[in-house]
Amino acid sequence: MKYSQCCPKCQSSEIAKIEGGAFKGNIYNTVSFGLTTIYLTRYTCTHCGFTENYVDDPKDLAKVKDKYFKPGTDTEFV
Ligand SMILES: [Zn+2]
Repeated sequence: MKYSQCCPKCQSSEIAKIEGGAFKGNIYNTVSFGLTTIYLTRYTCTHCGFTENYVDDPKDLAKVKDKYFKPGTDTEFV
């Protein structure tokens, strides 16, 4: 949706981009853990209402990865 500019549900191309952040009037569109707050960018189809959220800042993405991505957890306890 972010890249295709097309809704996967109804194939509408009318996608609204809603940026997160206190200075963008959208302070609640976040992921928080500890002292870290990450703002999400929301893509909403203005035809059917389907919405996707993206972490747009690569630095924020790295923080999420550090915190939540656990490689190999499926095979550790064999
Ligand atoms: Zn749609």
